[in-house]
Amino acid sequence: MHAPHPLSPHNDHILGCPECGQAVCAAAEIGEMADCPACGKNLIRIEKNPYLLPFLYAITALFVLLPVSFGFFLAVRMPTVSERLTFPTMVHNLLRQDYSFLANAMFILTFATPLFFLILLLYVLGAFIHNKNRPFLLPAARWLFRLKQWLMVDIFAVSSIVALIKIKVYAEVAFGLSFYAIFIYAILLARISQSITPHWLFAKAAELSNKNITYSNNTVFCHRCFFRQPENNARCSICGTFILFRRTHSLMLSTAFLMAAIICYIPANLLPMMITSDPRVTISSQIFDGVLTLWRNKDYLVAVIIFSASIAVPLLKIVGMIILLLSAKFRLSEKISAHQLSLLHRVIEWVGRWSMIDIFVTIILMAAFSTPIAKVEAGSATIYFTLVVVLTMLSAYFFDTRLLWEKEQKNASIF
Ligand SMILES: [Zn+2]
Ligand SMILES: [Zn+2]
Repeated sequence: MHAPHPLSPHNDHILGCPECGQAVCAAAEIGEMADCPACGKNLIRIEKNPYLLPFLYAITALFVLLPVSFGFFLAVRMPTVSERLTFPTMVHNLLRQDYSFLANAMFILTFATPLFFLILLLYVLGAFIHNKNRPFLLPAARWLFRLKQWLMVDIFAVSSIVALIKIKVYAEVAFGLSFYAIFIYAILLARISQSITPHWLFAKAAELSNKNITYSNNTVFCHRCFFRQPENNARCSICGTFILFRRTHSLMLSTAFLMAAIICYIPANLLPMMITSDPRVTISSQIFDGVLTLWRNKDYLVAVIIFSASIAVPLLKIVGMIILLLSAKFRLSEKISAHQLSLLHRVIEWVGRWSMIDIFVTIILMAAFSTPIAKVEAGSATIYFTLVVVLTMLSAYFFDTRLLWEKEQKNASIF
């Protein structure tokens, strides 16, 4: 039996909350979790079976990926034409029609990123299960958390239901194995993401990699693994991230990405999102037109989903980020506490990805209707809209919430 490692999350120790910047004394046993008492951010969470279960989920996910990738996704039948689609044919259709930007976005977000994530996870958890060090264990763990927020399989799965409802109006549709498998794949990925949290994972990786680890109760801590570090360390001795008292240029980077997002938001709404055509007529529609048409056709549920994902959420993200940036710089109002602003930031980070629904729906419709008899094409707004989603996600990522708490404390000490 090993003696507990000094960095083990099971021992009481001081860690730094990455959201509010406070020092917190916490510990958690297997199957427990510990939250920050000030802001409520979860700091330690260890599953009942933290290594083996996510490992098995990841293996299962890789098996499910086979029918997802090569099974048939949907078949569309119209009186004159019929189309049978798999994922590779969908990407191929996009490339054939010169939509390489959309083809790449779909390939990276729904295929390459999750696959890379699963392989890294198996590598890291494999080392944990064998209790042995492996080369690049800590960099692999760092990449795991970088990739986590860019997994968009769940969004693609929901988009395919929305697309199904839209296609049913025009044609007969049948769904294949790949369609059902993608839901299982999405659920497995969500469960895996939930089961790996940074603090315990880095503690274990650091223990195995036997580096010259230093841990102290000084005031500086690592925002990625939450461990406290000696003040003069440039890099975290535990996870290897650069130690920053505050994220460098947080406000500048966050503002720059937000400005770029606002600029892209204008063409995203004014240019056509989708161009539908048949031999008689060609209709190009903007995001808002699309929602109105759905509403008029009494597709209320889809109209509400597309309205929320494409209009409400991007606007909420932009306005929310403006409020956060102004509050961090000037402290907008005494009435909004740092706690509420942190919650706003958490919401913005969480909803960010869901705006991709409309883009994925357009991609699926394009793949389904790609003959001159019935054709759906992506308008130029899709590129700007994808950029809005990515840029607002980056803006939220670079925003350091600790600045909000710092501002509140400074103000409190004045009075
Ligand atoms: Zn906190
Ligand atoms: Zn660290």
